[in-house]
Amino acid sequence: MAVSELKELYFSQSSLAIFQSCQKKFYYRYLAGLYWPAEWGMNEEIRQDLKLGQQFHLLAQRYYQPTLEETTLVSKQPLQAWLNRLKRFCSAVDIIAAEQELRLREAEFKLLAKYDLLKYDSSQARIIIYDWKTDKKDFKQKDIKSSMQTRFYLYLMVKAGYKYFAQDYKLETMPCLIYWNPRYPGQPVSLKYDKKSFEQDQTFFEELLKEILTSSEFPLTEDINKCRFCEYRPICRGKRSEAIEVFEEDLDLNLDWESVEEFEF
Ligand code: SF4
Repeated sequence: MAVSELKELYFSQSSLAIFQSCQKKFYYRYLAGLYWPAEWGMNEEIRQDLKLGQQFHLLAQRYYQPTLEETTLVSKQPLQAWLNRLKRFCSAVDIIAAEQELRLREAEFKLLAKYDLLKYDSSQARIIIYDWKTDKKDFKQKDIKSSMQTRFYLYLMVKAGYKYFAQDYKLETMPCLIYWNPRYPGQPVSLKYDKKSFEQDQTFFEELLKEILTSSEFPLTEDINKCRFCEYRPICRGKRSEAIEVFEEDLDLNLDWESVEEFEF
């Protein structure tokens, strides 16, 4: 695969995580364009959970952006209860933006992230990033602090967002990231960031991107356990997938690419 084609890609936390998990999967999704809707091959329960997650994100966006049209989704349960919990957890004040998408274009690579909610914390002169999760797993079951999403969201906010938002906000302190799940309203996870972590992440992402951009082979993972829940299992292993594993982050693939704001530095 020619590097020039790779250079056309905007890298999200999902694509970077997929490259780390299985290079062949990255190749199929992002270079070969072999992608089909996440709903395909999913059992009904997972399909319903995914739909609930999408509807909740839409409700949250409309709550924080009241200029958007009303939605009728609020009459459904558990969405009404989830929305009420959200309002109690995080009121609609000091809003910078909801569903804010950012792109960063540098000479060697391009990055993209989508933030569920950004608020301004004037007491500490910083941005607070909120991310909504609706998985049935609670945060204790995940290593969320060192996840690709956590590192990528915070890194890109400092790298690109802080320069952009500095026009309108005094930003003196590193951002923090808060994960919250309406299924577990009393268990938010708040993660701080610092200069040392930013520098480590900068090195990490630059090295990872260099590895991707200089790749010419995209080998199959040697961990065949990963293949059990992968949609490409029939192609790679000649077997049906046991179930398609879907992450909310996979919805990045449904981004309206034309509507994403692009910031260049
Ligand atoms: S089936 Fe396995 S080797 Fe093939 S893309 Fe999926 S995870 Fe990678």
